Amino acid sequence: MPGSEFNIIQRFFTEPARLLSDRQGHSDIVLGIGDDCAIISPPVIGPPVAPPDNQQLVVSIDTLISGVHFPEQTSPQAIAHKALAVNLSDLAAMGAEPCWFTLALTLPEADESWLASFSSALFKLAEEYNIALIGGDTTRGKLAITIQVAGYVPQGKALLRSGAQVGDIIAVSGELGAASIGLDIVLEKNQKTYHCLSEKQQQAALFALNYPSPKIKEGLLLRNYAHAALDLSDGLLSDLGHILKASAVGADVFLEQLPLAESLQCLAPEQAWERALSGGDDYQLCFTLDSDKWQQLKNIEPHFTAIGVITDTHKLRLLNRSGELFLPRNGGYNHFE
Ligand SMILES: [Mg+2]
Repeated sequence: MPGSEFNIIQRFFTEPARLLSDRQGHSDIVLGIGDDCAIISPPVIGPPVAPPDNQQLVVSIDTLISGVHFPEQTSPQAIAHKALAVNLSDLAAMGAEPCWFTLALTLPEADESWLASFSSALFKLAEEYNIALIGGDTTRGKLAITIQVAGYVPQGKALLRSGAQVGDIIAVSGELGAASIGLDIVLEKNQKTYHCLSEKQQQAALFALNYPSPKIKEGLLLRNYAHAALDLSDGLLSDLGHILKASAVGADVFLEQLPLAESLQCLAPEQAWERALSGGDDYQLCFTLDSDKWQQLKNIEPHFTAIGVITDTHKLRLLNRSGELFLPRNGGYNHFE
């Protein structure tokens, strides 16, 4: 898609590989722009051969802007949680263990009670995931939060988007679609998507939108199982597309196998599939693995769900139980469309 966020970074901000490798002292960059995180291998001081379990640093950055990534009326607690959680989710997608983060905060005014609520929610999540805030900056302007995270992964063990192999099972770490219903509720639009939900179920959809839980534990486990992985931020279709492109493969996704969130129950099956495929903000992991490994893994993590297989077709096909092709109306969330 021309003009998409992904292409802007690729086109204008990816240093040619030649430059990166030629530049003095930058053999430390193992993986640059294009995955959930970059991978850096800090120079080893001492013996010339690094120990086999030498750690690599993975780094990612994400900005959330009021009115774009969260509705303007969102609470400071939810904003803080989400800003850190979406970054932790990128570490999870690499199979990394969180270590530290930095924060750049743009605020329309220095509102003490807003800041107190924001910082306490931020530190609550940081403590839960054992990640330390080591620096920050504030400026005045429209509310925006940028967080950069770093994590560690044993050398060569990071989960990349480029490792999917023909015949792999495609799986996801949990339910899909709830956050998109939460967004309908906040914006009071598409009431037919949530009119049948109880108050408690509506709260659950809102919680899924505002308080995503990063799958760090799952990412660490997947290091020993998955060939490729990423986190679902923009919707399964568009995000799985990144794995297919990076790995130069295709996929068949079986619609009846999609783990639909309870929040989708007001929708007819085809509309529910649309939401599970194209709704953003789920922050589950999507990964591919050998079918033998899948048999082992699903005994350990029963909430993981197989949704399809990697093919050599270079196409993403959505199939119903009768093997008929399903064409969704939209591909996925895109910030610049
Ligand atoms: Mg990501």
